[in-house]
Amino acid sequence: MNITVAYGDGIGPEIMTATLKILDAAGCNLKYDVIEIGEKIYLSGIKSGIAPESWDILRKNKVFLKAPITTPQGGGYKSLNVTIRKSMGLFASVRPSMAYTNVIHSHFPNMDLVVIRENEEDLYAGIEHQQTGEVIQCLKLISKPGTEKIIRYAFEYARAYGRRKVTCMTKDNIMKLTDGYFHKTFNEIAKEYPEIETNHMIIDIGTARIADYPENFDVIVTLNLYGDIISDVAAEVAGSVGLAGSANIGDSFAMFEAIHGSAPDIAGQDKANPSGLINGAVMMLMHLGMPDKAELIENALLKTLEDGYHTADIYKERTSRVRVGTQEFAEEVIKRLGKKPEILKAVSYNPNYKPIRIKTKEYHKPKKDLQGIDIFLDWTGDSRNPNSLGNNLSLIVENTKFYLKMITNRGVKVYPDGFPETFCTDHWRCRFKKKDEKLNLTNNDLLELQKIIISAGFEIIKTENLYFIDGEAAFSLGQGE
Ligand code: NAD
Repeated sequence: MNITVAYGDGIGPEIMTATLKILDAAGCNLKYDVIEIGEKIYLSGIKSGIAPESWDILRKNKVFLKAPITTPQGGGYKSLNVTIRKSMGLFASVRPSMAYTNVIHSHFPNMDLVVIRENEEDLYAGIEHQQTGEVIQCLKLISKPGTEKIIRYAFEYARAYGRRKVTCMTKDNIMKLTDGYFHKTFNEIAKEYPEIETNHMIIDIGTARIADYPENFDVIVTLNLYGDIISDVAAEVAGSVGLAGSANIGDSFAMFEAIHGSAPDIAGQDKANPSGLINGAVMMLMHLGMPDKAELIENALLKTLEDGYHTADIYKERTSRVRVGTQEFAEEVIKRLGKKPEILKAVSYNPNYKPIRIKTKEYHKPKKDLQGIDIFLDWTGDSRNPNSLGNNLSLIVENTKFYLKMITNRGVKVYPDGFPETFCTDHWRCRFKKKDEKLNLTNNDLLELQKIIISAGFEIIKTENLYFIDGEAAFSLGQGE
């Protein structure tokens, strides 16, 4: 079987050499197609950090074991990880964080959790606009298939790895439509996995709890931005940032790596700890349907750590026995292939483990009923007197199919009946709804309304249509509406 391999920058070549040595010694029987990525490619003028011809190799092999790379500072270089993640549809980021109790210092000896983070959506769509002199926006996009996919993946992962509980984290007390949909979908899909315990936490308290009681968590599934933050919190709390691996999983392509960077400060000195990349490779073997090899290597790695063969980053007088270099560490792991740890918990994977593949349901076009429109204005009139704007707009639209329902400023209702204390910017969301429930609005009606508003001298910077979708209001209310 062929996989794609990149040796990366900094300590990348050293830890990749060590890792491949172990895969070979364990009899994984993999062939490596090597591609060049990272600093050299960036500096040759390719802003993505990957040569165009490498994509074909990635696509052909479908599995990529990647060493860390160095992204040169400045110069508009794009993050290679984000490029690969988005281009190859890697919807799930999987990051286990565990304590190596009594072997490597950790404040939380019973910690063993996995963060499963949605990887393609949310604020990471990178759609940003400055709309007025004072206001800049970033769009948060959540799709139904994307949400279903990541939540199903989390439950399938829990089932495949014998984990007992899945916790969903959102901020649906504030973002009732986007995060609310994620939470609702979680509750629905949970019913298909009755043997798995579930709960939901608001992300802020959830993050705090991970920092203080990480041993209470098992699998956590969450949206992109929250997942980005909590996976770092979890890795830090576990005390094993240098040992953690991660997987990025798509429908037809997957990438595996260590979570740390290229550590240029110790590059070329045979000092780097290869455990993070070895753990990434173990996750890769599971994905390739080789649970026996994954188990063999992971147990040998645990045994090496428990026997006190430690690289400099984790070497401590009290818990270590021999300070080893990168390649010597790999040799020690190879010597222990077939052995199991006794202090650390040995892993045992189901020999019939089948790689997780996710199928989502078909989504049909829903029934959409136009109810009105939110028109956003750049208005620099008297910001302390939104009533003047509201009264004026109400008058302007008097002879149309619409009435002005309300105006908000950064989401807070300021008309009618706003509070004088509310701070207002130059960014006004004006909600126009149809006057008569029985009216059938069309997009042309929305355009006519906008023409009238523009003719009256206003600057429209953005609009959002207001729908009932399958009979339910598909827009949030203003704060105080
Ligand atoms: P880093 O993770 O490379 O290093 C942080 C510290 O941890 C350093 O002191 C380093 O020596 C140590 N360290 C990291 N991995 C180690 C290991 N395996 N063994 C022993 N010590 C280890 O983070 P950084 O210094 O912020 O970033 C360096 C470069 O890595 C930057 O160019 C950054 O963009 C890049 N980076 C790449 C990836 C990736 O390719 N996935 C991820 C993060 C950072």
